[in-house]
Amino acid sequence: MRLAEVAEKLGVAEWRLKGALERQSIQLVKNFQPSYLVFKKDVSGIERGTAVFLGEELSVVRGFPKIKRAFYLEPLLKKHFSSRVAVEEKMNGYNVRVALVEGRLLALTRGGYVCPYTTAKLRESRNTERFLKEHPSLMLCGEAVGEKNPYVVHHYPEAGDFGFFIFDLRERESNESMPVLERNALVEEYELRHVRLFGIFDKGDATREIFRIVQELAAEGREGVVIKDPEMKLPPIKYTSSQTNASDLAYAFRFPYEYGREFFFSRIIREGFQAVEWDESEAELEKRALRLGKSILLPMVESIKKVRQGEILTEDYELDFASEAELEEFLAYLRRQGVSVIVEEMQHRDGGVRVILKRLRSSSTDKIRSVLNGRGE
Ligand code: ATP
Ligand code: MG
Repeated sequence: MRLAEVAEKLGVAEWRLKGALERQSIQLVKNFQPSYLVFKKDVSGIERGTAVFLGEELSVVRGFPKIKRAFYLEPLLKKHFSSRVAVEEKMNGYNVRVALVEGRLLALTRGGYVCPYTTAKLRESRNTERFLKEHPSLMLCGEAVGEKNPYVVHHYPEAGDFGFFIFDLRERESNESMPVLERNALVEEYELRHVRLFGIFDKGDATREIFRIVQELAAEGREGVVIKDPEMKLPPIKYTSSQTNASDLAYAFRFPYEYGREFFFSRIIREGFQAVEWDESEAELEKRALRLGKSILLPMVESIKKVRQGEILTEDYELDFASEAELEEFLAYLRRQGVSVIVEEMQHRDGGVRVILKRLRSSSTDKIRSVLNGRGE
Protein backbone atom coordinates (compact mmCIF):
# COMPACT_ATOMS: atom_id res chain seq x y z
CA MET A 1 0.00 0.00 0.00
CA ARG A 2 2.94 2.32 -0.55
CA LEU A 3 3.41 2.85 3.18
CA ALA A 4 7.11 3.63 2.80
CA GLU A 5 6.27 6.35 0.31
CA VAL A 6 3.54 7.77 2.56
CA ALA A 7 5.86 7.68 5.59
CA GLU A 8 8.53 9.58 3.74
CA LYS A 9 6.10 12.17 2.44
CA LEU A 10 4.75 12.81 5.95
CA GLY A 11 8.15 12.59 7.62
CA VAL A 12 7.13 9.86 10.06
CA ALA A 13 8.51 6.37 10.68
CA GLU A 14 6.98 3.67 8.51
CA TRP A 15 6.51 1.29 11.45
CA ARG A 16 4.37 3.90 13.17
CA LEU A 17 2.00 4.03 10.21
CA LYS A 18 1.93 0.27 10.06
CA GLY A 19 1.02 0.02 13.74
CA ALA A 20 -1.62 2.71 13.35
CA LEU A 21 -3.20 0.84 10.44
CA GLU A 22 -3.31 -2.34 12.50
CA ARG A 23 -4.92 -0.50 15.41
CA GLN A 24 -7.29 1.13 12.89
CA SER A 25 -6.13 4.60 13.86
CA ILE A 26 -5.63 4.92 10.13
CA GLN A 27 -8.28 3.64 7.75
CA LEU A 28 -8.01 2.86 4.06
CA VAL A 29 -10.96 4.10 2.01
CA LYS A 30 -11.07 1.87 -1.04
CA ASN A 31 -14.31 2.78 -2.76
CA PHE A 32 -13.04 6.10 -4.01
CA GLN A 33 -10.88 7.02 -6.95
CA PRO A 34 -8.07 7.38 -5.93
CA SER A 35 -8.26 5.37 -2.71
CA TYR A 36 -7.08 7.22 0.37
CA LEU A 37 -5.88 6.88 3.94
CA VAL A 38 -7.77 8.67 6.71
CA PHE A 39 -6.19 9.43 10.08
CA LYS A 40 -8.85 8.71 12.67
CA LYS A 41 -6.48 9.72 15.47
CA ASP A 42 -3.30 11.76 15.75
CA VAL A 43 -0.36 9.63 14.66
CA SER A 44 3.21 10.85 15.29
CA GLY A 45 2.20 14.50 15.14
CA ILE A 46 0.03 14.09 12.04
CA GLU A 47 -3.41 15.37 12.98
CA ARG A 48 -6.62 13.41 13.08
CA GLY A 49 -8.56 14.19 9.92
CA THR A 50 -5.52 14.02 7.66
CA ALA A 51 -6.16 12.33 4.31
CA VAL A 52 -3.50 10.91 2.01
CA PHE A 53 -4.74 10.19 -1.51
CA LEU A 54 -2.95 7.30 -3.16
CA GLY A 55 -3.10 8.58 -6.73
CA GLU A 56 -0.28 8.43 -9.22
CA GLU A 57 1.35 11.00 -7.01
CA LEU A 58 0.53 11.13 -3.32
CA SER A 59 -1.66 14.08 -2.27
CA VAL A 60 -1.64 14.99 1.38
CA VAL A 61 -4.42 17.05 2.97
CA ARG A 62 -3.50 17.64 6.60
CA GLY A 63 -6.11 17.65 9.35
CA PHE A 64 -7.53 20.90 10.71
CA PRO A 65 -6.08 21.41 14.21
CA LYS A 66 -8.27 21.44 17.28
CA ILE A 67 -9.02 24.89 18.67
CA LYS A 68 -8.76 25.45 22.41
CA ARG A 69 -11.62 27.09 24.21
CA ALA A 70 -11.37 29.94 26.70
CA PHE A 71 -13.57 29.49 29.74
CA TYR A 72 -12.23 32.53 31.56
CA LEU A 73 -10.89 34.91 28.93
CA GLU A 74 -8.62 37.63 30.24
CA PRO A 75 -5.77 35.68 31.85
CA LEU A 76 -5.70 33.21 28.99
CA LEU A 77 -5.40 35.98 26.38
CA LYS A 78 -2.58 37.61 28.31
CA LYS A 79 -0.71 34.37 28.74
CA HIS A 80 -1.25 32.93 25.31
CA PHE A 81 -0.76 35.79 22.83
CA SER A 82 2.27 37.99 22.34
CA SER A 83 0.95 41.48 21.61
CA ARG A 84 -1.94 41.86 19.20
CA VAL A 85 -4.88 39.63 18.44
CA ALA A 86 -7.20 39.32 15.46
CA VAL A 87 -10.83 38.75 16.43
CA GLU A 88 -12.92 36.90 13.87
CA GLU A 89 -16.45 35.64 13.85
CA LYS A 90 -16.86 31.97 14.69
CA MET A 91 -19.57 30.68 12.42
CA ASN A 92 -21.71 27.74 13.35
CA GLY A 93 -21.64 25.16 10.60
CA TYR A 94 -19.26 22.37 9.78
CA ASN A 95 -15.56 22.42 9.09
CA VAL A 96 -14.57 21.84 5.47
CA ARG A 97 -11.19 21.66 3.80
CA VAL A 98 -11.14 22.08 0.06
CA ALA A 99 -8.19 20.97 -2.03
CA LEU A 100 -7.29 19.94 -5.53
CA VAL A 101 -6.44 16.24 -5.81
CA GLU A 102 -5.26 15.08 -9.23
CA GLY A 103 -6.77 18.24 -10.67
CA ARG A 104 -10.21 17.72 -9.12
CA LEU A 105 -11.78 19.75 -6.36
CA LEU A 106 -12.59 17.70 -3.25
CA ALA A 107 -14.26 18.78 -0.01
CA LEU A 108 -13.26 16.96 3.16
CA THR A 109 -15.13 16.91 6.45
CA ARG A 110 -13.39 17.38 9.77
CA GLY A 111 -12.80 13.65 10.05
CA GLY A 112 -10.96 13.52 6.73
CA TYR A 113 -13.57 11.88 4.51
CA VAL A 114 -14.54 13.25 1.11
CA CYS A 115 -18.12 14.44 1.44
CA PRO A 116 -19.93 14.04 -1.88
CA TYR A 117 -22.65 16.54 -0.95
CA THR A 118 -20.24 19.32 0.00
CA THR A 119 -17.97 18.53 -2.94
CA ALA A 120 -20.88 18.90 -5.36
CA LYS A 121 -21.92 22.21 -3.79
CA LEU A 122 -18.43 23.68 -3.89
CA ARG A 123 -17.85 22.58 -7.45
CA GLU A 124 -20.61 24.99 -8.45
CA SER A 125 -18.24 27.88 -7.71
CA ARG A 126 -15.87 28.63 -10.57
CA ASN A 127 -13.88 30.96 -8.34
CA THR A 128 -13.11 28.24 -5.82
CA GLU A 129 -11.76 26.04 -8.57
CA ARG A 130 -9.80 28.90 -10.11
CA PHE A 131 -8.26 29.72 -6.73
CA LEU A 132 -7.08 26.17 -6.21
CA LYS A 133 -5.75 25.78 -9.75
CA GLU A 134 -3.63 28.88 -9.22
CA HIS A 135 -2.58 27.83 -5.69
CA PRO A 136 -2.50 24.04 -5.79
CA SER A 137 -0.38 23.65 -2.67
CA LEU A 138 -3.00 25.40 -0.53
CA MET A 139 -6.20 24.15 1.03
CA LEU A 140 -9.16 26.40 1.75
CA CYS A 141 -10.37 25.88 5.29
CA GLY A 142 -13.80 27.23 6.01
CA GLU A 143 -17.17 26.80 7.58
CA ALA A 144 -20.01 25.46 5.45
CA VAL A 145 -23.19 27.03 6.80
CA GLY A 146 -26.83 27.48 5.97
CA GLU A 147 -30.09 25.66 6.01
CA LYS A 148 -29.44 22.89 3.54
CA ASN A 149 -26.72 20.54 4.58
CA PRO A 150 -26.65 17.14 6.21
CA TYR A 151 -24.67 18.25 9.30
CA VAL A 152 -25.30 21.57 11.04
CA VAL A 153 -28.37 23.54 10.09
CA HIS A 154 -28.29 27.18 11.16
CA HIS A 155 -29.80 30.24 9.57
CA TYR A 156 -27.43 32.95 8.35
CA PRO A 157 -29.07 35.75 6.35
CA GLU A 158 -25.94 36.10 4.20
CA ALA A 159 -25.73 32.39 3.42
CA GLY A 160 -29.21 31.17 2.50
CA ASP A 161 -29.29 27.48 1.70
CA PHE A 162 -25.56 26.97 1.50
CA GLY A 163 -22.60 29.25 2.13
CA PHE A 164 -18.91 28.69 2.50
CA PHE A 165 -16.86 31.14 4.57
CA ILE A 166 -13.09 30.79 4.60
CA PHE A 167 -11.24 31.20 7.89
CA ASP A 168 -7.84 29.81 7.03
CA LEU A 169 -5.53 29.17 4.10
CA ARG A 170 -3.01 26.46 4.79
CA GLU A 171 -0.30 24.60 2.97
CA ARG A 172 -1.99 21.27 2.64
CA GLU A 173 1.21 19.22 3.14
CA SER A 174 2.86 21.13 5.98
CA ASN A 175 -0.27 22.68 7.51
CA GLU A 176 1.42 26.08 7.68
CA SER A 177 -1.14 28.84 7.93
CA MET A 178 -1.19 32.21 6.12
CA PRO A 179 -1.30 35.47 8.16
CA VAL A 180 -4.83 36.80 8.66
CA LEU A 181 -4.74 39.99 6.55
CA GLU A 182 -2.82 38.40 3.71
CA ARG A 183 -5.31 35.53 3.68
CA ASN A 184 -8.35 37.78 3.56
CA ALA A 185 -6.85 39.88 0.75
CA LEU A 186 -6.16 36.76 -1.30
CA VAL A 187 -9.64 35.37 -0.67
CA GLU A 188 -11.19 38.67 -1.77
CA GLU A 189 -9.05 38.73 -4.89
CA TYR A 190 -10.89 35.61 -6.04
CA GLU A 191 -14.27 36.97 -4.96
CA LEU A 192 -14.63 34.23 -2.39
CA ARG A 193 -16.04 34.88 1.06
CA HIS A 194 -14.26 34.89 4.39
CA VAL A 195 -15.56 35.06 7.94
CA ARG A 196 -15.91 38.57 9.39
CA LEU A 197 -12.84 40.14 10.93
CA PHE A 198 -13.93 42.45 13.75
CA GLY A 199 -10.52 43.98 14.21
CA ILE A 200 -6.97 43.54 15.35
CA PHE A 201 -6.60 44.71 18.94
CA ASP A 202 -3.87 45.15 21.51
CA LYS A 203 -4.21 42.21 23.80
CA GLY A 204 -4.70 44.59 26.72
CA ASP A 205 -7.89 46.00 25.14
CA ALA A 206 -9.04 42.79 23.56
CA THR A 207 -11.03 41.29 26.44
CA ARG A 208 -13.34 44.28 26.71
CA GLU A 209 -13.85 44.38 22.93
CA ILE A 210 -14.52 40.66 22.78
CA PHE A 211 -17.15 40.74 25.52
CA ARG A 212 -18.93 43.51 23.62
CA ILE A 213 -18.69 41.68 20.28
CA VAL A 214 -19.86 38.36 21.71
CA GLN A 215 -22.88 40.01 23.31
CA GLU A 216 -23.80 41.70 20.04
CA LEU A 217 -23.41 38.43 18.16
CA ALA A 218 -25.53 36.60 20.71
CA ALA A 219 -28.35 39.09 20.22
CA GLU A 220 -28.36 38.15 16.53
CA GLY A 221 -28.34 34.43 17.23
CA ARG A 222 -24.69 34.10 16.18
CA GLU A 223 -22.13 31.87 17.83
CA GLY A 224 -19.06 33.80 18.99
CA VAL A 225 -15.47 34.54 18.06
CA VAL A 226 -12.15 32.93 17.33
CA ILE A 227 -9.15 34.89 18.55
CA LYS A 228 -5.99 34.57 16.49
CA ASP A 229 -2.39 35.63 16.32
CA PRO A 230 -2.44 37.94 13.25
CA GLU A 231 0.67 36.14 11.98
CA MET A 232 -0.90 32.73 12.64
CA LYS A 233 2.19 31.49 14.46
CA LEU A 234 0.27 30.66 17.65
CA PRO A 235 -2.79 28.43 17.97
CA PRO A 236 -6.17 30.26 18.03
CA ILE A 237 -8.62 30.34 20.93
CA LYS A 238 -12.41 30.19 20.71
CA TYR A 239 -14.93 31.98 22.88
CA THR A 240 -18.70 31.75 22.55
CA SER A 241 -21.91 33.19 23.96
CA SER A 242 -24.19 31.67 26.54
CA GLN A 243 -27.05 31.73 24.02
CA THR A 244 -25.09 29.50 21.64
CA ASN A 245 -24.22 27.26 24.48
CA ALA A 246 -27.87 26.95 25.40
CA SER A 247 -28.89 26.21 21.85
CA ASP A 248 -26.17 23.52 21.61
CA LEU A 249 -27.48 21.98 24.80
CA ALA A 250 -31.08 22.20 23.66
CA TYR A 251 -30.13 20.51 20.45
CA ALA A 252 -28.18 17.74 22.13
CA PHE A 253 -30.78 17.09 24.81
CA ARG A 254 -33.27 16.19 22.10
CA PHE A 255 -31.12 13.05 21.82
CA PRO A 256 -29.58 12.77 25.29
CA TYR A 257 -27.95 9.38 24.76
CA GLU A 258 -26.33 10.26 21.47
CA TYR A 259 -23.70 12.59 22.91
CA GLY A 260 -20.81 11.94 25.26
CA ARG A 261 -21.15 13.19 28.81
CA GLU A 262 -18.17 15.50 28.24
CA PHE A 263 -20.23 17.42 25.69
CA PHE A 264 -22.79 18.37 28.34
CA PHE A 265 -20.35 18.86 31.19
CA SER A 266 -18.10 21.28 29.32
CA ARG A 267 -21.09 23.38 28.26
CA ILE A 268 -22.41 23.65 31.78
CA ILE A 269 -19.03 24.57 33.29
CA ARG A 270 -18.60 27.37 30.75
CA GLU A 271 -21.69 29.07 32.11
CA GLY A 272 -20.20 29.23 35.58
CA PHE A 273 -16.94 30.84 34.50
CA GLN A 274 -18.58 33.29 32.13
CA ALA A 275 -21.11 34.44 34.74
CA VAL A 276 -18.26 35.16 37.17
CA GLU A 277 -15.98 36.87 34.64
CA TRP A 278 -18.86 39.07 33.47
CA ASP A 279 -19.65 40.06 37.09
CA GLU A 280 -23.32 39.40 36.60
CA SER A 281 -26.00 40.88 38.79
CA GLU A 282 -28.58 38.71 40.49
CA ALA A 283 -31.11 39.46 37.75
CA GLU A 284 -28.64 38.52 35.02
CA LEU A 285 -27.72 35.32 36.81
CA GLU A 286 -31.37 34.47 37.12
CA LYS A 287 -31.76 34.86 33.36
CA ARG A 288 -28.73 32.71 32.70
CA ALA A 289 -29.98 30.02 35.06
CA LEU A 290 -33.36 29.94 33.39
CA ARG A 291 -31.84 29.76 29.93
CA LEU A 292 -29.53 26.94 30.97
CA GLY A 293 -32.22 24.96 32.75
CA LYS A 294 -34.72 25.34 29.93
CA SER A 295 -32.21 24.30 27.32
CA ILE A 296 -31.62 21.06 29.19
CA LEU A 297 -35.09 20.19 30.35
CA LEU A 298 -37.53 21.23 27.63
CA PRO A 299 -36.13 19.32 24.64
CA MET A 300 -35.61 16.26 26.80
CA VAL A 301 -39.21 16.30 28.01
CA GLU A 302 -40.42 16.63 24.45
CA SER A 303 -38.34 13.67 23.28
CA ILE A 304 -39.45 11.45 26.16
CA LYS A 305 -43.08 12.30 25.36
CA LYS A 306 -42.56 11.43 21.72
CA VAL A 307 -41.15 8.04 22.58
CA ARG A 308 -43.97 7.47 25.06
CA GLN A 309 -46.40 8.02 22.19
CA GLY A 310 -44.62 5.33 20.23
CA GLU A 311 -42.64 7.60 17.89
CA ILE A 312 -39.00 7.19 17.03
CA LEU A 313 -36.55 10.08 17.39
CA THR A 314 -35.07 11.43 14.19
CA GLU A 315 -33.20 14.47 13.07
CA ASP A 316 -34.46 15.86 9.79
CA TYR A 317 -32.58 17.54 6.97
CA GLU A 318 -33.88 19.02 3.76
CA LEU A 319 -31.39 18.58 0.93
CA ASP A 320 -31.20 19.33 -2.78
CA PHE A 321 -29.32 17.13 -5.21
CA ALA A 322 -28.57 17.85 -8.85
CA SER A 323 -29.65 14.33 -9.84
CA GLU A 324 -30.87 11.06 -8.43
CA ALA A 325 -27.43 9.58 -9.03
CA GLU A 326 -25.94 12.23 -6.78
CA LEU A 327 -28.49 11.41 -4.08
CA GLU A 328 -27.64 7.71 -4.34
CA GLU A 329 -23.94 8.45 -4.04
CA PHE A 330 -24.61 10.47 -0.92
CA LEU A 331 -26.76 7.74 0.63
CA ALA A 332 -24.01 5.21 -0.03
CA TYR A 333 -21.54 7.52 1.69
CA LEU A 334 -23.79 7.79 4.76
CA ARG A 335 -24.14 4.03 4.95
CA ARG A 336 -20.37 3.65 4.87
CA GLN A 337 -20.16 6.14 7.73
CA GLY A 338 -22.55 3.97 9.71
CA VAL A 339 -25.31 6.60 9.65
CA SER A 340 -28.88 5.28 9.35
CA VAL A 341 -31.37 7.45 7.50
CA ILE A 342 -34.82 7.20 6.01
CA VAL A 343 -35.59 9.11 2.84
CA GLU A 344 -38.95 10.53 3.68
CA GLU A 345 -40.08 12.77 0.88
CA MET A 346 -38.77 13.08 -2.59
CA GLN A 347 -39.69 15.78 -5.08
CA HIS A 348 -38.33 16.02 -8.57
CA ARG A 349 -37.72 19.60 -9.55
CA ASP A 350 -36.12 20.91 -12.74
CA GLY A 351 -33.70 18.07 -13.20
CA GLY A 352 -32.79 17.75 -9.54
CA VAL A 353 -34.30 16.10 -6.47
CA ARG A 354 -35.25 17.53 -3.11
CA VAL A 355 -35.48 15.12 -0.21
CA ILE A 356 -36.15 15.06 3.49
CA LEU A 357 -33.60 12.82 5.15
CA LYS A 358 -34.46 11.53 8.58
CA ARG A 359 -31.44 10.48 10.54
CA LEU A 360 -32.35 7.85 13.11
CA ARG A 361 -31.35 8.61 16.67
CA SER A 362 -31.59 5.02 17.81
CA SER A 363 -29.55 5.08 21.01
CA SER A 364 -31.81 7.74 22.49
CA THR A 365 -35.01 6.15 21.21
CA ASP A 366 -34.04 2.72 22.56
CA LYS A 367 -32.77 3.88 25.95
CA ILE A 368 -35.74 6.14 26.59
CA ARG A 369 -38.13 3.40 25.55
CA SER A 370 -36.57 0.85 27.85
CA VAL A 371 -36.70 3.25 30.80
CA LEU A 372 -40.37 3.91 30.05
CA ASN A 373 -40.88 0.16 29.99
CA GLY A 374 -39.62 -0.26 33.50
CA ARG A 375 -35.88 -0.51 33.29
CA GLY A 376 -34.01 1.12 36.18
CA GLU A 377 -30.85 3.15 35.69
P1 ATP B 1 -12.48 21.61 17.58
O1 ATP B 1 -12.53 22.44 18.82
O2 ATP B 1 -11.82 20.32 17.72
O3 ATP B 1 -11.96 22.36 16.40
P2 ATP B 1 -15.35 21.31 17.72
O4 ATP B 1 -16.27 20.45 16.95
O5 ATP B 1 -15.36 21.27 19.19
O6 ATP B 1 -13.91 21.11 17.16
P3 ATP B 1 -16.10 24.06 17.53
O7 ATP B 1 -16.39 24.21 18.97
O8 ATP B 1 -17.17 24.38 16.57
O9 ATP B 1 -15.56 22.69 17.12
O10 ATP B 1 -14.85 25.02 17.23
C1 ATP B 1 -13.86 24.85 16.27
C2 ATP B 1 -14.39 24.96 14.85
O11 ATP B 1 -14.94 26.25 14.62
C3 ATP B 1 -13.36 24.85 13.76
O12 ATP B 1 -12.99 23.53 13.51
C4 ATP B 1 -14.08 25.49 12.59
O13 ATP B 1 -14.82 24.53 11.88
C5 ATP B 1 -15.08 26.42 13.23
N1 ATP B 1 -14.88 27.85 12.90
C6 ATP B 1 -15.88 28.72 12.63
N2 ATP B 1 -15.43 29.95 12.43
C7 ATP B 1 -14.08 29.89 12.55
C8 ATP B 1 -13.03 30.85 12.46
N3 ATP B 1 -13.26 32.13 12.21
N4 ATP B 1 -11.77 30.42 12.64
C9 ATP B 1 -11.50 29.13 12.93
N5 ATP B 1 -12.44 28.18 13.04
C10 ATP B 1 -13.73 28.55 12.86
MG1 MG C 1 -18.64 24.30 15.21
